Amino acid sequence: MLIYDLDFDSITKLLQEWDEPSYRARQIWQGLYQHLYDAPGQFTNLSKPLREKMAERLTFSPLKVKVYQDSSDGFTRKTLFELPDKNLIEAVLMRYGDPADSPHPNPSPKSGRGANRRTLCISTQAGCAMGCVFCATGQMGFKRHLSSGEIIAQALYYARMLKEENQVVTNIVLMGMGEPFHNYDNTMAAIDRLNDSNGFNFGARRFTISTVGLVPQIRRFADQKRQVNLAISLHAADDESRVAMLPVNKKYNIDEVIDACRYYVSQTHRRITFEWALINGVNDTPEIAKKLAARLKGLMCHVNAIPLNPTMGYNGQATSRERAAAFKESLEQAGIPCTIRMRRGIDINAGCGQLAGSIVSV
Ligand code: SAH
Ligand code: SF4
Repeated sequence: MLIYDLDFDSITKLLQEWDEPSYRARQIWQGLYQHLYDAPGQFTNLSKPLREKMAERLTFSPLKVKVYQDSSDGFTRKTLFELPDKNLIEAVLMRYGDPADSPHPNPSPKSGRGANRRTLCISTQAGCAMGCVFCATGQMGFKRHLSSGEIIAQALYYARMLKEENQVVTNIVLMGMGEPFHNYDNTMAAIDRLNDSNGFNFGARRFTISTVGLVPQIRRFADQKRQVNLAISLHAADDESRVAMLPVNKKYNIDEVIDACRYYVSQTHRRITFEWALINGVNDTPEIAKKLAARLKGLMCHVNAIPLNPTMGYNGQATSRERAAAFKESLEQAGIPCTIRMRRGIDINAGCGQLAGSIVSV
C-alpha cells in the first residue's frame, strides 16, 4: 500500500488497527507532508517497532528516476519516472516567472511571480486516451490512471529537491501527461491532500487544472466551487477544425464546452483560461482570432497562446513570433486578453509526453 494514497482519516484508522495511540497519525502526517520524509527510518519520533511495521506494510517511493534532463539555460528540469509496473510518467519543474503561467494578471510577490516562481507540471495518467493529434502523450495512447498517491509523489519529489536549495514549489499545474478530468476523483483527492493545512498546506489557488474539455466534469468542478484555477484546451474556433485536432470534440463540441465554462464562471466567479497551441497556418490567423473572440464574448477569460511544440507524430509547425503577436493583437482588439507564452526548455522536450515518447520509441 502506497502511503501517499492514504488520507489523514485512513492513516488514523490504520494506526487504530495497529493498536497505536491516535497522536501517531499526526506525527506521520507531519513527517510526510511537512518534513517531506520518504523512508520510515526518518521518522525518528516513532517507536522502532512502528517504523518497522511501516516499512513492511507500506511503500514510500513509488517513483524511480529513469532519466532527467536540464534545459541548457538551467531553468527547467524534466524528470521521467518509472512506476512500479514499469509505466513511465513525467514531471517538469520550471524555475522562472512567466506571468502567463498564472491566470492572474498581477500576481502579488507572495504568489511567487518573478525570480522565485517555481512551477511544477505534473502528470495525472500514464499516457492519455484523448488522442489529440499534436500531443506526444496522445500519440502514445492510454496506459492507466495514476492513483492520488502517485500524483502527490511527483510534487513531493520536487519539493524535496527544492528544499535542499532552501526553495519551495510555488505553483502546481496539472498539465503533464494525461487528462485530469478523465481521472477526476484521484486528481481531486491529490489536490485535497496537498492542500491540507496541517500537512503540505499548498493553497488551492496555486493549482491549475487543464482539461481538454470534458463537459460533465467541468460542471461538476464548477458545482464544487473550488478555488483551483481552470484552463481549457481549446485550440480551434470552429468544430470542424477542432475535431481534426481534438477527437473529443465529437463528443463535446465547442458550444457545449463554452457553455460549461460560462457555468463555471457563474458558479465560482473565477476567470477561466483558454489554451491555444499556435500552429503555423492552421489556427494562427487574425480571422481565426476574431472568430474566437466572438465565441468568448462576455466570458471572464484569458487566452494563453503557446507556439506548438513540434512532435514526432504530427506535421504541424510552430507559429512565428510575428504571427503570434498579430494573433494576440487581433484578440485583444476584440476585447479578449491574451498572453503569448514562448516555450522554454524546448531543448529538453519539455512538451508533455515528449520525453517518455522519445524513450519508448528508441
Ligand atoms: N490533458 C490536459 C492537460 C495536459 S496537456 C489538456 O489537454 O488540457 C497540457 C496542455 O499542453 C494542453 O493545453 C495541450 O493541448 C497542450 N499541448 C499538448 N501537446 C502540445 C504541443 N505539442 N505543443 C503545444 N501544446 C501542447
Ligand atoms: Fe491528452 Fe491533453 Fe495530450 Fe490531449 S493534449 S492527448 S487531452 S494530454
